[in-house]
Amino acid sequence: MKVCKFGGTSMATAKSIRQVEKIIRSDPERKYVVVSAPGKRFKGDIKVTDLLYQADAEKAHYGCAGPAIEEIRDRFVTLVAELGLDMDMDRYIDEVEAGINASSGSDYAASRGEYLSAIVLSELLGFDFVDAADIIKFKHDGSFDADNTNDLVQELKKNTKGIVIPGFYGSMPDGSIKTFSRGGSDVSGAIIARGVGAAIYENWTDVNGFMVTDPNVVQNPKQMEVLSYEELRELSYMGASVLHPDSIFPVREDGIPINIRNTFEPENKGTMILPDISGYPKSSIVTGIAGRKGNTTISLKKAMMNSELGFGRKVLSVLERHGISFEHMPTGIDTMSIVITEKVLNGVESQVIEDIKGKVNPDSIEVIHNLALIAVVGHGMANQMGTAARIFVALYQAGVNIRMIDQGSSEMNIIIGVEEKDYEKAIKAIYSAFFE
Ligand code: ADP
Ligand code: ASP
Ligand code: MG
Repeated sequence: MKVCKFGGTSMATAKSIRQVEKIIRSDPERKYVVVSAPGKRFKGDIKVTDLLYQADAEKAHYGCAGPAIEEIRDRFVTLVAELGLDMDMDRYIDEVEAGINASSGSDYAASRGEYLSAIVLSELLGFDFVDAADIIKFKHDGSFDADNTNDLVQELKKNTKGIVIPGFYGSMPDGSIKTFSRGGSDVSGAIIARGVGAAIYENWTDVNGFMVTDPNVVQNPKQMEVLSYEELRELSYMGASVLHPDSIFPVREDGIPINIRNTFEPENKGTMILPDISGYPKSSIVTGIAGRKGNTTISLKKAMMNSELGFGRKVLSVLERHGISFEHMPTGIDTMSIVITEKVLNGVESQVIEDIKGKVNPDSIEVIHNLALIAVVGHGMANQMGTAARIFVALYQAGVNIRMIDQGSSEMNIIIGVEEKDYEKAIKAIYSAFFE
């Protein structure tokens, strides 16, 4: 049995949904379907999820949701009409609007895109609709309740007709809706795959699988045939947005393969993500390159830092108190740098700096904004001499100034920090060095 997750672009238009239907009907094993909310139909379009967040913000500002809800209504009414479905979409949208206006929370609002999307597809396919709120559960502290969820998902195995489940959300013990982080329908699909014991988790999107780097930066990058769970996690965490980094956890224990496929080119085999890829031939030492902008570095200097017992702990305790997790921490004898995602420092940065000063009294503390991080990932890198040299020569020749270097202890990745303005240039240079 296969679990298939269809992303936002696949669910965006009547034409793409017809294509989804064709894919599902072409294989009787495709019985469990997880869907995203309708995504962008064209460049510059707004995803339904973003419209729902807007509707919730309208409610907060003006007391009730307004134009955003009407735009969503228009999208769904048009969609079901074009699909030729006899459904009273207005009734569903009224229900969502009332829920938002009753202050059900921004997670409730955001989740309604997948909810409606799943109802529409289940109607089209003649499959059962199962609400994610009934099977995907969170604990009181907001963490995912894997055991409870798994018991509930296993029950779905009794179904013979086929099921469509909305991605992205589940429910809290009090019944309120809670979402995963953005892109979380990938995680929902993985949870269902584990629960029903799928032979494979097919993740259908709008590209021919995992590319060795972001196709928005390098034109037509090479497609990966296989990728390991670990490599996937490194790459997606570092910005390869094709699959949510947490998608690995549910499928890892049972070693369920993930197959990234293109809804718009279903004959392409896509990329297989497997627990172990040691049996596959390696075409390059580097498996992939990913990156993201929007990072800040806090650099501390203090003479004799190395021998000052508890220095690192004290600095990190400040971050902990502010609820901030850090990304990297390269250190020297008398220096320590902490790389943090800009978003989490918003609004608290100056307080964090003051607190660090108070706690460890450094000789200097410097904050560098607009840092882009680039990860070069691959299992083969650990015992291959010269990999770092090739990266650095490529960056030097492209005129990119390196602001930070960090090598993960698994030796499976090298992280490089560059200025945001150099980000695209750096990715292109590293890509050429290893793949052209
Ligand atoms: P979906 O809505 O189907 O979940 P996403 O937009 O979340 O799709 O992910 C697919 C997109 O990820 C692609 O369209 C592409 O722009 C982007 N992407 C970023 N890095 C990569 C990569 N290394 N390989 C493939 N796609 C990538
Ligand atoms: N619709 C949600 C988002 O835009 C979840 C998803 O697409 O996976 O983030
Ligand atoms: Mg996605």
